[in-house]
Amino acid sequence: MTIQQAIEGYLKYSGAKVLNVSVALIDMDGVLYDTMKYHTQAWVKLMKKNGIRCTREEFYAYEGMTGADIIKKKFKEGAGKNITDDEAHALYKVKGRYFTELGEPDVMAGALRVLQALQQASMRNVVVTGSAQQTLLDRLDTDFAGLLDTEARVTAFDAPRGKPSPEPYLKAITKAAVKPTQCIVIENAPLGVQSGHTAGCFTIGVTTGPIPERDLYKAGADICYPSMDALADALPDLLAAMKCN
Ligand code: MG
Repeated sequence: MTIQQAIEGYLKYSGAKVLNVSVALIDMDGVLYDTMKYHTQAWVKLMKKNGIRCTREEFYAYEGMTGADIIKKKFKEGAGKNITDDEAHALYKVKGRYFTELGEPDVMAGALRVLQALQQASMRNVVVTGSAQQTLLDRLDTDFAGLLDTEARVTAFDAPRGKPSPEPYLKAITKAAVKPTQCIVIENAPLGVQSGHTAGCFTIGVTTGPIPERDLYKAGADICYPSMDALADALPDLLAAMKCN
């Protein structure tokens, strides 16, 4: 997929006349932080402690759903149990503790370069995440100081419906007071890609984990890159092509 093909494809299916982007909506886990290895490990520990069979791989596929939704799904499928909101909240807290115990996650390689390249092209960088992991949310504005717009940020506390619902991205679009065609979405997970695509945004998939590129295209990605560094390298050309289409 070339940049030109991706832009032409987007304009065709969206019916938009131009793609005049000014806002980048950026997922957090697996995009800004290299956290998925810890999240999947913490999920497996929580499920095993509760006698629910699972594999680590499946939690990569659930990425983007809220913690409560993942808990409800797994307890229903694995133990035939209907979990209440309060129970899900309590279990998610335990999972959050297991996650924190695994140590401080690293900033994703290339993430700073991506944010800098966006800022150089006068884009507003907005985080859109289904995460309620406070330890990580608190780090955003120090790890990426001066690179993020905090006014339009959306977290699990703003968007009760998780990805793949378009709600988290639509909420950020409303907060930023722009149109979907003025935004690009940067995502690593199929459900996140689906959320950005359904919200009507040009969606970039980045394969930072074990999920292959074809799954991101299947979920609606307009173009994919194999790493955040590769995206940072491509961004000047991609944004220049968007601004003059
Ligand atoms: Mg993600």
